[in-house]
Amino acid sequence: MISITGLTKTFGATPVLDQIDLDIAEGERVVIIGPSGTGKSTLLRCLNFLDRPDAGKITIGDLTVDAARARKAEILGLRRRTGFVFQNYALFANKTAQENIMEALVTVQRLPKAEAAARAQAVLAETGLADKANSYPAALSGGQQQRVGIGRAMALNAELMLFDEPTSALDPEWVGEVLDLMRRVAEQKQTMLIVTHEMQFAREIADRILFMHSGKIVEQGTPAEIFDAPQDPRLKRFLARVS
Ligand code: ATP
Ligand code: MG
Repeated sequence: MISITGLTKTFGATPVLDQIDLDIAEGERVVIIGPSGTGKSTLLRCLNFLDRPDAGKITIGDLTVDAARARKAEILGLRRRTGFVFQNYALFANKTAQENIMEALVTVQRLPKAEAAARAQAVLAETGLADKANSYPAALSGGQQQRVGIGRAMALNAELMLFDEPTSALDPEWVGEVLDLMRRVAEQKQTMLIVTHEMQFAREIADRILFMHSGKIVEQGTPAEIFDAPQDPRLKRFLARVS
């Protein structure tokens, strides 16, 4: 169970997240859509303190953190419970695919190296990249790099996986294989919070869709409710633009 209450973030004078409340059930797949600059990435980044929230409470499983006074150990606790997939992959260029996957297992989860290597190899096999274990990112296609990025998050066995536009930096030819891997992650009943502009994919994979606007969740519902019967005029305008 994930529970977020009153999550607030301001950059300078600009409120970017305005008192966000959100509960996510175990195994639930939640997709966030909304215009650019609305706070989608900031919301994801605040959940593991890549951006530090100003206020609010975050519960992931057995850990509840009060953002305003979060201590180092609690922030590390949130990071142990979340896997993050970035738009631009964010792989270490000087590490192989396997080493990239091992990194957080060793530094954040404190696994012994041999165990981390074994888990990384298992994940590489699952993502169809067993033969790329010793390749550096520069030798991989965009799709392969993002599959390593997803594998890195899968390896953490995190309670929550966060995806921030995982396909939007990819050449169109690589989008399909990355979405396929995300479908496979979903089949494992992994709890997922996904920001995407792939509306067809959102409709297919989401249990629930959130529409964000100006730092708030202004409408939410099933894919059918959001796409076929939108209520808020801002959502209607957004859908008219993207479809
Ligand atoms: P997009 O669809 O373009 O990715 P988004 O919904 O993910 O947009 P955010 O990246 O969360 O939007 O940004 C929300 C607002 O916060 C924007 O106005 C952005 O300029 C601002 N912002 C984000 N990060 C920072 C930062 N580090 N410093 C200052 N302002 C920031
Ligand atoms: Mg963003």
